[in-house]
Amino acid sequence: MSRLEQLQQRVDQPLLVSNPFNVRYLTGFKSSNAALLVDPDRTRLFTDFRYAEAASQVEGVEFEQTRRNLYATLPELLSGSIAFEAADLTYRRWQILADGGLELTPTTGIVEVQRAVKDDGELAAIRRAAAITNDVYSWLAEQPFVGRSERDLASAIETRYRELGAENLAFEFAIGAGPNGALPHAKAGEIPIPAGTTVVVDTGCQIGGYYSDCTRTFATGELSEELARGYEVCLRAQEAALAATVAGAKGIDVDRVARNMIELEGFGDAFGHGLGHGVGLEVHEAPFLNQESADVLQGGNVVTIEPGIYQPGLGGIRIEDLAIVHDTGLEVLTSFPKTLVTVG
Ligand code: ZN
Ligand code: ZN
Repeated sequence: MSRLEQLQQRVDQPLLVSNPFNVRYLTGFKSSNAALLVDPDRTRLFTDFRYAEAASQVEGVEFEQTRRNLYATLPELLSGSIAFEAADLTYRRWQILADGGLELTPTTGIVEVQRAVKDDGELAAIRRAAAITNDVYSWLAEQPFVGRSERDLASAIETRYRELGAENLAFEFAIGAGPNGALPHAKAGEIPIPAGTTVVVDTGCQIGGYYSDCTRTFATGELSEELARGYEVCLRAQEAALAATVAGAKGIDVDRVARNMIELEGFGDAFGHGLGHGVGLEVHEAPFLNQESADVLQGGNVVTIEPGIYQPGLGGIRIEDLAIVHDTGLEVLTSFPKTLVTVG
């Protein structure tokens, strides 16, 4: 059964799919201006003339051409009561639809829940993206760090990703040396990387639209006692959380495994973000593993496990693996060593 047919079976009223990642996931159709109306018995694809040729070849949908302003056209094509994606549809577009006489019901997560369980093709793409990432980290461990700016290191990593066949880079790489690394989402800056500290390197790439995501923390020489102990605690928490990442586990509980361990060691204030997130067509997608998550893990999920310990003024530590949850166990895709690696 196709992804679209699976969704059609699950909707009980017409669902307007506006999120472009959801449109792409359901139909393979990539456009910055498209929407679907998914009914139990049929799906209509709306887009403008620029995409008409490609849209007319999409299987399992009835293509209807709209004006460039797609949402202004929809009230002429739709009627009655429809559900919409509340996390995506802007208020402005909602107004246009409501003013056009449509009765609108908000929904969240309907397509995202389906996207969270990857099929074999999706898993293959993510494995390839992760394999490139592994090669990048092996190469990186041999590169000079000290005296070079974070930005220079980031651009060398980007080049390496391209050489190894990455289609796109996953996001703006977060590279944080010393105190800069204590800011969880530090951007790469111009200050030279100092010796004797930690460097957090968070990168990834895209293959076939699917992302990889991996963080390793390197040492530029011998670390202070606080940073060395932070690394050891972070690694133990990361491994304990990996062991708890099984089908049937709740995202909130897996988060708690790492968080409790970090708190017990006195670093409670130093772990200010969620433990992990799903990865797919988006770098951050369902299921989520954090203190608010209501998600339950299931076979086919692809998730990160990434506790961090950030010590203001000293440095940051984050260790992030990307893994596939199988009913039979966890397949960790990021294989670069997690024992502390010292670089020059
Ligand atoms: Zn990451
Ligand atoms: Zn991540």
